[in-house]
Amino acid sequence: MTTDWQNWSGSQKHMAFDLALPDSELAVAELIQRAAAAGRSVRGIGSAHSFVPFWTDDHLVSLDNMKGLISHDAAARQVTVWAGTKLHELGEPLWDLGLAMENMGDIDRQSVAGAISTGTHGTGASLQNISSQVVGLRLVKADGAIVDINGSVDPDLLRAAQVSMGTLGVITQVTLQALPAYHLHERNWQASVAECAEAREDLITNNRHWEFFWDPQTDQCAMKTLNVTEAQSLALPTPGQDIGRSYRVIPSAREFKFNEIEFSVPAAAGWDCFLALRHLMQTDFADVRWPLEYRTLKADDMFLSSASDRDSVTISAHQGVNQPYQAFFGAVEDLFREYDGRPHWGKIHTQQASQLEISLPQFNRFREIRQSMDPQGLFLNPFLKQVFGID
Ligand SMILES: Cc1cc2nc3c(=O)[nH]c(=O)nc-3n(C[C@H](O)[C@H](O)[C@H](O)COP(=O)(O)OP(=O)(O)OC[C@H]3O[C@@H](n4cnc5c(N)ncnc54)[C@H](O)[C@@H]3O)c2cc1C
Repeated sequence: MTTDWQNWSGSQKHMAFDLALPDSELAVAELIQRAAAAGRSVRGIGSAHSFVPFWTDDHLVSLDNMKGLISHDAAARQVTVWAGTKLHELGEPLWDLGLAMENMGDIDRQSVAGAISTGTHGTGASLQNISSQVVGLRLVKADGAIVDINGSVDPDLLRAAQVSMGTLGVITQVTLQALPAYHLHERNWQASVAECAEAREDLITNNRHWEFFWDPQTDQCAMKTLNVTEAQSLALPTPGQDIGRSYRVIPSAREFKFNEIEFSVPAAAGWDCFLALRHLMQTDFADVRWPLEYRTLKADDMFLSSASDRDSVTISAHQGVNQPYQAFFGAVEDLFREYDGRPHWGKIHTQQASQLEISLPQFNRFREIRQSMDPQGLFLNPFLKQVFGID
């Protein structure tokens, strides 16, 4: 039976031949084998919060029936969870074990598999993306084999699988490195662009997390810092401030739907890139009312991570779901390219293999591993074939 399906922003719609909700790894393996025999593609779905054409009219696999904690290694502070677990379903159980995720993004609606597969990140110059918290995972390959990938046994395969856009197999279990549970003190305030420019180096150095949203309508920056605190709550209610458990303080609710483009640029180029984007919005796209978001991200060693081998600043631009974004995002993407930008895999971009080979130092290493894991391209679709340069 075909099923009508769309992603969060409504930018991707499919009449899927099969939308499967397996409840075991064997069921995942069976459906992969069936699809392979029929020559149909298979694509995983998490919370469908990605904006790009990741999916297919063939087989869509959701792990919404494979959620929760599987095991816990207290000494190593590691937890193994079903890959369909949503991040917001993880905070409480981890806290009960005295643990917390090192960092999260702006929201907590993503699934564990989906968040890691696109390199989802938060902000903090000393903090890497969520994929970097993965120390091992299990996936079902194109031939139906259930494979454990462990960083101490095969570090390169793990580096590939940590950010893989669902192209190595259907991820069923993920082992995460956690931290001892911690509280965060949040501070919010408004600053002019000049004030933000002057304060930014200090803010990056002296806060665990710093970010801002620049509002094109007011030319003001909504600044936010988060820092670890021993306090469990504010002594007195204070405007613009909050203290709470990390997993409650880091994410926010997103009331309105939008489409989004985000690139990461070398950390040293972040501010100039932001000023150029601001200028673009104030001149050619003055009708766009959605903000730019500016965050920092520490370098890592994952092949497809947008912060692979370089400390980065990530900048994202948005447009409401009912407004055209193509011309605006096209101009924004051209500008990101001038700053040696790399795309966020879950957000809108038009980057293809010939460009990615240049901007991502380990892109070809990932391509070799993808080819060896899925030679027939069961987990690809036309969009991903363009990304990886496959005819
Ligand atoms: C409101 C909003 C806020 C956001 N905030 C941030 C942010 O702060 N930081 C940031 O970096 N990004 C952010 N994003 C982007 C988002 O985090 C990513 O697009 C993320 O991948 C979405 O997770 P998901 O569970 O919805 O995965 P999906 O979008 O469903 O899937 C993402 C990828 O993972 C694959 N996949 C899913 N499940 C599996 C599986 N079991 N096995 C193998 N592959 C699988 C999919 O095929 C796809 O390639 C935001 C998006 C929205 C809509």
